[in-house]
Amino acid sequence: MIIFQFVQTLHYKHFLTTLEMEIAMGHTEQIRSLGMKVTGPRLKILSLFETHPEEHLSAEDVYRLTLEEDLNIGVATVYRVLAQFEEAGILMRHNFDTGKAVYELDRGNHHDHLVCVRCGKITEFCDDRIEKLQDDVAEEHGYEIIDHAMYLYGTCGECQKSVKKARRK
Ligand SMILES: [Zn+2]
Ligand SMILES: [Zn+2]
Repeated sequence: MIIFQFVQTLHYKHFLTTLEMEIAMGHTEQIRSLGMKVTGPRLKILSLFETHPEEHLSAEDVYRLTLEEDLNIGVATVYRVLAQFEEAGILMRHNFDTGKAVYELDRGNHHDHLVCVRCGKITEFCDDRIEKLQDDVAEEHGYEIIDHAMYLYGTCGECQKSVKKARRK
């Protein structure tokens, strides 16, 4: 048993940095409690979301990040693990109109998204007035809201600036 654990730890080390190891260890129980086996790829992918908290990562992004670290995780595995984590409620998936689905950790803090259709930048926000208005609208129609997702599409400040610059030329 001890030898087995040692081998396992070494196996994870190949996939994870020290910081990620620490983060990942907090997830081993979570993964186990979901009836999943704790594997290097699963821990690694979960850690990537923890170490990129500001980002909404697509399967391609996750795959690229593992490639940058020379990790031998196949694309199919990345897709499979993301789907499993989504089903288990660890990750939230968004299908923005930008083409590819993106994922973020489901921390249970509700927020909505502004999406730049030009560069793909995503900004999170939560506005109490909008939240309240939605409740009011639902109530008016006799509904009780269980969940909602709001995506606002537009061009971000930086993209507006670069478009203006291009026009001046
Ligand atoms: Zn933009
Ligand atoms: Zn988000």
